Amino acid sequence: MGLWSVIAEALRALFRRPVTVQSLTKAGQGVPVPERYRGRITFDREACIGCLLCIRTCPTGTILATEDRKVEFRLDHCIFCGQCVEICPKDAVKHTSNFEVVVSNRETLVIK
Ligand code: SF4
Ligand code: SF4
Repeated sequence: MGLWSVIAEALRALFRRPVTVQSLTKAGQGVPVPERYRGRITFDREACIGCLLCIRTCPTGTILATEDRKVEFRLDHCIFCGQCVEICPKDAVKHTSNFEVVVSNRETLVIK
């Protein structure tokens, strides 16, 4: 490919519509995700009855029992498989559409 064809291609690209979806958005503006997207877990401690079924089903050891016979989630281990959401009899665990789990402090990924 000669220099002129490279320049012509660069100029064409300037005016073409992008073929990718913008992944970085303005603050407070989320990237659209499918309705059933399995994002970051939320946990409703009040709804939890401490059956511990979620611990038994979690393949990565993300969920730990707490002293008050409830659970906590260490999301730095979570692979968002959705097993805990499926098995919870009280709908205490749910997915959100949030996929941003990059943090500088792991402790902020503990959900109690
Ligand atoms: S989504 Fe999967 S890996 Fe994450 S806490 Fe639930 S069962 Fe464990
Ligand atoms: S499965 Fe649901 S109700 Fe049972 S311990 Fe886990 S979060 Fe609580």
